[in-house]
Amino acid sequence: MPIASSRTAALYDRVRRVIPPIEWPAFTGDIEAILDLKRQRNAVILAHNYQTPEIFHCVADIVGDSLALARKAMTVEADVIVLAGVHFMAETAKLLNPDKTVLIPDTQAGCSLADSITAKDVRLLRQRYPGIPIVTYVNTSAAVKAESDICCTSGNAKAVVEALGVPQVIMLPDEYLAQNIAAQTAVKVIAWKGHCEVHERFTPTDIRQLREDHPGVTVLAHPECPPEVVAEVDFSGSTAAMSDYVGQQRPARVVLMTECSMSDNVAVDHPDVEFIRPCNLCPHMKRITLTNIRTALEQNRHVVAIDPEIAGRARRAVERMLAV
Ligand code: SF4
Repeated sequence: MPIASSRTAALYDRVRRVIPPIEWPAFTGDIEAILDLKRQRNAVILAHNYQTPEIFHCVADIVGDSLALARKAMTVEADVIVLAGVHFMAETAKLLNPDKTVLIPDTQAGCSLADSITAKDVRLLRQRYPGIPIVTYVNTSAAVKAESDICCTSGNAKAVVEALGVPQVIMLPDEYLAQNIAAQTAVKVIAWKGHCEVHERFTPTDIRQLREDHPGVTVLAHPECPPEVVAEVDFSGSTAAMSDYVGQQRPARVVLMTECSMSDNVAVDHPDVEFIRPCNLCPHMKRITLTNIRTALEQNRHVVAIDPEIAGRARRAVERMLAV
């Protein structure tokens, strides 16, 4: 046990600013087991920025936003990938690693954006707007990606839209991301009416109140927030861009208008920055826990499978994005 204890003690040093000492013992058994299981099964854990710090900083091998996870998933050499994130992310990892076992610890870890549109909806849009390219946010099912011309993330959406060299695109399914991108480009954007249930709840009033309560605070927001929110912040970008902004600009006080765990994960690396924390939890991201990651590795569940014909077409849309 001394090796195990020193292993988790070193990990706790990393997260002590965001995990109270009283909570830590509840995590150490699962962390020890997961570290051993990863070695036994030649497995890696990919964790999204919205995962809790004991997952993000203590057991994950690769962390980042959707774009980074998709990119890095292609370079993984393990036999097994556990996706600590939501279902569409696990599907994307499977698309890019068809020969590997990809596990999602909870199949109910969904996404309001992914649930807002079906493959049939996309086919109807194509009939309604013939010849207009369909740019689909990665926050969608493989079946929806398969009906699309190219994917995008919040980090590369503008570049993807402009790379197509056309005057008009259809952008699915996030209405606010589409409107926020439309405000930055000459390309005309037709939007769908999907929303992220976490980011749609932020309002301009929230920002004004924050500025009043915390004078001098720097406000960052994810582009899934409504345009009237993005219009009032100091910077808007993907989770990776927000993290980079904090690292480079070192604001004295900052608030991240996004999912709650994001501030915790960024705060670990920036002890000199004060994080103000009004935030919204994503109930889907929070379905992933150390305990169900451990069970996923112990019992090889839940294996992500995609119909090969759908996977082929969806993979093309993702790979086309990665080439931009
Ligand atoms: S934060 Fe929003 S976009 Fe991300 S998984 Fe949750 S519901 Fe979906």
